[in-house]
Amino acid sequence: MDDFLKEALEIVKAQASVRTMTEDEMLSMVRTIANGIQNMGGQRCEEEEGEISADPKKAVKEKSIQCLECGKAFKILTKKHLGTHNLTPDEYRAKYGYPKKAALVCKSLQRERRKKMKDMKLWEKRTGRKK
Ligand SMILES: [Zn+2]
Repeated sequence: MDDFLKEALEIVKAQASVRTMTEDEMLSMVRTIANGIQNMGGQRCEEEEGEISADPKKAVKEKSIQCLECGKAFKILTKKHLGTHNLTPDEYRAKYGYPKKAALVCKSLQRERRKKMKDMKLWEKRTGRKK
């Protein structure tokens, strides 16, 4: 885990011990503090490899989804890969403002999944019906 994130966690932990905080409150506080500490450290974002989209929505493209942590593109952003950044898919979504249920896959796969689900439903109906 990055140092600035660790520092932020410590600050929030201290806060949480003196007053009741919801998980959302804690998460957004960690994010705010981590960003603050990160900014104090200068332009570290520019040193990282790959062009990272500033807009998480633009990171999801037709044939790929970009990891906003390292800028690499994938068809599916796997739990395993996010693990290399010490993030769970939930944390990743929270960090970059994706909806909680958002699928971390490229657009064409999202469509395929939806179609498959539809097909499955049709299939269920068909098999449920008597010949
Ligand atoms: Zn990555």
